[in-house]
Amino acid sequence: MRSEKPKLGQNFLVSPAAQMQIVESLGDIAHATVVEIGPGKGAITTLLLPRAARLLCIELDHALAAAAQARWAAAANLTIVNASVLDADLAQLAWPGDPRSAAEKLVVVGNLPYYITSDILLHLFAQASAIDRAVVMVQEEVADRLAARPGTRDYGVLSATTQLHAKVEKLFTVPPEAFDPPPNVHSAVVRLTMRPRFEELGVPREPFLRFTQRIFQQKRKTLANNLKAAGFASDAIQKALADSQLAPAVRPEEVPVEQAAQIYNVLTSNAKK
Ligand code: SAM
Repeated sequence: MRSEKPKLGQNFLVSPAAQMQIVESLGDIAHATVVEIGPGKGAITTLLLPRAARLLCIELDHALAAAAQARWAAAANLTIVNASVLDADLAQLAWPGDPRSAAEKLVVVGNLPYYITSDILLHLFAQASAIDRAVVMVQEEVADRLAARPGTRDYGVLSATTQLHAKVEKLFTVPPEAFDPPPNVHSAVVRLTMRPRFEELGVPREPFLRFTQRIFQQKRKTLANNLKAAGFASDAIQKALADSQLAPAVRPEEVPVEQAAQIYNVLTSNAKK
């Protein structure tokens, strides 16, 4: 059967209004180094170039990257990198070998290739300390999961992981007709203002992200059962839930990250005893 999915998630944005709305959602970029993920044929790039102090574009498709190089060969504030964003260390690309990089934060923008949306977001979160904000187009269903509040149907591991790294705003929706070729889904633009919460919650990033994945391992099971499956002892789980004022049968999607952090701290301090 022929796949209807375009190569490399290439649904080009052809609506001038949506292109402009995305750029305006970045706010003031006059002094910023902007990173565009997947410039494609340059729909958003064209608007960014006169507005941003510097623009760094990362495009996996060799032909598209070469075409962009040729088109903007004279643009002094533009760098095009032919690579996968998933392999890119953004701060290193923006300021090669420059230790001052920590002082300035990047602004990221992209009409993302949908086949790797989650991977790209996780890659950005891993580099959150180098990023101020990101405005990204994703499938609307993903946007709803990113922004979902605990206790709602859409809340899950992607919501918790995202909200541990960023303030999430779902800005506007974009219909399939705004793209060429049109995708099979509706899209939405989301702004992620990076502000990692690990320090405030008193949890170490990597272990707590792994713990978050485990508590959502089986979304239909109770939190207690997922914790048991992760190897924690029943009595320790009961104590952790009671300490966090959670009912014994609470489900993972009902647990805000603050309480998940509390449970993590009780369980791991028990394990150390
Ligand atoms: N920005 C353009 C627009 O809005 O019309 C193109 C958007 S299109 C949805 C996604 C773009 O990401 C394509 O140009 C595709 O080649 C590129 N892409 C796909 N996978 C990528 C990856 N791993 N790293 C960088 N770019 C990628």
